[in-house]
Amino acid sequence: MPLPKTLRLILGDQLDELHSWFKTPDKNVTYVMMEIRQETDYVKHHIQKVAAFFAAMRAFSARLSELGHNVIYLRLDDRQNLQTIPANLQHLVATKKFDRVEYLLPDEYRLDEQLKNLAKKLQVDVTAVDTEHFMTERQALKDFFAGKKRYLMESFYRSRRKRHNILMEKDKPFGGQWNYDQQNRQAYDRQVAIPKPLLFNNDVSDICRIIQKTGVQTFGEIEPSKLIWPTTRAQSLKLLNAFVKSGLPAFGTYQDAMTADNWYLFHSRLSFALNTKMLRPLEVIQVALKAWEQKKSPIEIQQIEGFVRQILGWREYMRGIYWALMPDLESMNYFNHDRALPDFYWTGETHMRCLRLAVGQSLRYAYAHHIQRLMVTGNFALLAGVHPAAVDAWYLGIYIDAIQWVELPNTRAMSQFADGGLVATKPYISSAKYIRSMSDYCETCDYDWKKRHGDMACPFNSLYWDFYSRHHRRLGKNARVAMMYRVWDRMNRDEKKRVLAQANAYLKDLNHL
Ligand SMILES: Cc1cc2nc3c(=O)[nH]c(=O)nc-3n(C[C@H](O)[C@H](O)[C@H](O)COP(=O)(O)OP(=O)(O)OC[C@H]3O[C@@H](n4cnc5c(N)ncnc54)[C@H](O)[C@@H]3O)c2cc1C
Ligand code: SF4
Repeated sequence: MPLPKTLRLILGDQLDELHSWFKTPDKNVTYVMMEIRQETDYVKHHIQKVAAFFAAMRAFSARLSELGHNVIYLRLDDRQNLQTIPANLQHLVATKKFDRVEYLLPDEYRLDEQLKNLAKKLQVDVTAVDTEHFMTERQALKDFFAGKKRYLMESFYRSRRKRHNILMEKDKPFGGQWNYDQQNRQAYDRQVAIPKPLLFNNDVSDICRIIQKTGVQTFGEIEPSKLIWPTTRAQSLKLLNAFVKSGLPAFGTYQDAMTADNWYLFHSRLSFALNTKMLRPLEVIQVALKAWEQKKSPIEIQQIEGFVRQILGWREYMRGIYWALMPDLESMNYFNHDRALPDFYWTGETHMRCLRLAVGQSLRYAYAHHIQRLMVTGNFALLAGVHPAAVDAWYLGIYIDAIQWVELPNTRAMSQFADGGLVATKPYISSAKYIRSMSDYCETCDYDWKKRHGDMACPFNSLYWDFYSRHHRRLGKNARVAMMYRVWDRMNRDEKKRVLAQANAYLKDLNHL
């Protein structure tokens, strides 16, 4: 009897050549990868994001063929490409007579549901297989916090440190402290030179031509002959090693800093390599730990702990939040915000220098670092009362690393507080004071960071107080913001009136700020 023929689906963010699937080529197994409209069109993406995904997928398919595997690769403009996963799989099973279908568990709820539904329809056996990528099981966070009101990252993170024995001395945290957050909040003081970035020159001209020819709608800038993002595991490893050598020694210290002179500071820019699974989180942590242990470069505990916390803590935590709260998370809107996203999120054209720079670099590189996302673009959208769905669509489209499992909990829950505080204990908002203390944006801004109202008063200031004032019913009892309400209550009546009138005028004319 002939052996059963198996078709294995690999999604665009499942490019892990270390996965056990690929250990030995098997002539009865065929892999399928597809560039499809289903994925290019569910939101409007940055051109670099679409090009980088397709380039990485093409490189991965070539790598599998080189290793002796059978691969079917459907390009976006292939005539036989039916443009959705179900249509392509059904067609392949029927025409090429596969007896079985296997797929790697998707990280997105949308795809998970789609594949589960498809499995019921296909006339052959369908099996889902673990991606072997994450360090925590999908449902682990939900179990960990069962019965709790809040899902605190810190307790989850500590449990991960213990479980994986990372930065531990027996059962105690290395150095005596679980985190060095207090030492991770320095503005950029120019004491350490920002490393030169390792940028790749991947030629994606062919992909850009196809994107244009097929009418896929994208936005943002690209130099087609020089895509800066890694598209192979080898490039991803190079980026990792470059970061460990030159970024990690100052990573923790300047983690929250922002400067007009530079778009990445000491950040790793590894999120695309990680989210496409070209790199595994554990190996990234191990490479960083090894450099720290070998003391090849002066990496202190607050730098390495800060980095480990991002990957072992925040990244695994956000994935757990996603699976704990989906599908409800997608429609949460605690403050009932309903404004449209201001036009300058798509153009960068605003007098607010912080937003002009953060949006401008996002359009240029499909990248902004965490504090720009949280405390500039996210902060402003929340203060302005933008509908979280519009905020989500923007984040999901613009960033090179944006995949819903990580974008949604970061945007809707952490940044927009639309979950009502399951993730964050208080809304991440600030007036100009915070932005000024963490950046050099305010000094030459058209707006005056010191003014709450009047000519060219910084919009963050009046909108900040207006936010607290209009959400008193929802936030008034939150102990974490009690101090702000005391300050607001003590402000004299005329001042309050002027601040609210200023906010009102700005809210009426968001597109012209
Ligand atoms: C509103 C908002 C939206 C975001 N959307 C995304 C997104 O779509 N995709 C995404 O990968 N990250 C997202 N983040 C988290 C974070 O901003 C990015 O992971 C980070 O900026 C990527 O740059 P980097 O690789 O240089 O990170 P580094 O600062 O060098 O950090 C190292 C790694 O830690 C991980 N990490 C750090 N913070 C987080 C976090 N909060 N959640 C998950 N992983 C984290 C990332 O994998 C990152 O590559 C978002 C944050 C906010 C506030
Ligand atoms: S003054 Fe206000 S708008 Fe201008 S950069 Fe500072 S925070 Fe942003």
